Amino acid sequence: MPTCTTCHTKWSWKQTFKKSFTLDTGMTCPHCGEKQYLTSKSRKRNSFTVFIIPLILLVSLVFDISVVLRIVLIFSAAIVMFVTYPFFIELSEKEEPLW
Ligand SMILES: [Zn+2]
Repeated sequence: MPTCTTCHTKWSWKQTFKKSFTLDTGMTCPHCGEKQYLTSKSRKRNSFTVFIIPLILLVSLVFDISVVLRIVLIFSAAIVMFVTYPFFIELSEKEEPLW
């Protein structure tokens, strides 16, 4: 779970999850109100998860998996991604360039 770099308080899963869905690049710490940004490392890691669903589609085409099973696989992958997302977040006090 991410820890605020200003007040060193650990964010809860719910807080992190809620903060992740803002259009703003920065997330305000629920404890001290300071702006926190995702580190470039965690942003890069998160962008890889986007490829998981096309990968499942590809695998299901190769192995001729039924449509129902394909949908179940995609849904469970999406749920796992949502649930585990806050665990992979690292915070930084300034915005880092992606590359
Ligand atoms: Zn804080």
